Amino acid sequence: MDDRDGIIWMDGEMLPWRDARVHVLTHTLHYGMGVFEGIRAYKTERGTAVFRLREHTRRLFDSAKILGMTINHTPDEINDAILRSIRENKLESAYVRPMTFYGSEGMGLHADSLQSHTMVAAWEWGAYLGAENMERGIRIKTSSFTRHHVNSTMCRAKANGNYINSMMALKEASEAGYDEALLLDTNGFVCEGSGENFFMVRDGVLYTPELASALEGITRDTVLQLARDIELPVREKRITRDEVYTADEAFFTGTAAEVTPIRELDGRQIGNGKRGPITERLQSMYFDQVEGRRSAYDEWLTFV
Ligand code: PMP
Repeated sequence: MDDRDGIIWMDGEMLPWRDARVHVLTHTLHYGMGVFEGIRAYKTERGTAVFRLREHTRRLFDSAKILGMTINHTPDEINDAILRSIRENKLESAYVRPMTFYGSEGMGLHADSLQSHTMVAAWEWGAYLGAENMERGIRIKTSSFTRHHVNSTMCRAKANGNYINSMMALKEASEAGYDEALLLDTNGFVCEGSGENFFMVRDGVLYTPELASALEGITRDTVLQLARDIELPVREKRITRDEVYTADEAFFTGTAAEVTPIRELDGRQIGNGKRGPITERLQSMYFDQVEGRRSAYDEWLTFV
């Protein structure tokens, strides 16, 4: 990943990909205090467009505020860096990773003397959970790792350190032969995947967990809006794992995962074990939206 041609934006400068380096004493590497985003840009008929750029940049700033970090740039400068990194790497479609992290000025836990750095990299990245699974659906397993308590690492923040929990859950699930993990919250209710929000359908109603310890996903928000557009009843509520066992359909949402159907949880087939009709409808609306085929919400597309 670090040995390729291309350009990375770092602290306001465009650096050759191989030269965008940090020291081993980088504070964030040691303690995980940092914030980041995951953004996609899609090829559309009108050119490459970033999906919901402003919302992602806003979440980056919100995450930094929650953790008490400073970003030494304005949101407009970050938006511009994101667009530039796609443009200058000549990408037609892209996954974009901005991150704000602390430098190597000190090792103590006091952050006062540390410099805040921000980088933006962009590269091509296909379907996160496998192209074939976008139709077939994935098999998932309830994790033995509990999602963070709302008062420990701050779940509204997309914070680097929060992903220790995600990575342990994903490793456990994949070593057991599953595609993804389903994490429960500290009260035992369904929370989210290692990097996705969760949805299920029963009797024509779309359900998703209330936001407490799950990340406030931008894809989640998009899918809720698309569901309202087709007058699908939507409920945000606490969901138990046995409700998922008896759901008609289930799916994950995320910038990387997009809308990925779930066909099995803990060895129980969900619905008919295939991508359900409501999942399929929302998934195709989602792709129409991000690829610029829907005229609604044109403001969600920022052309590169
Ligand atoms: N939950 C977690 C833990 C995530 O990492 C992500 C991916 N950012 C999501 C949910 C989905 O968020 P979004 O739709 O904004 O990508």
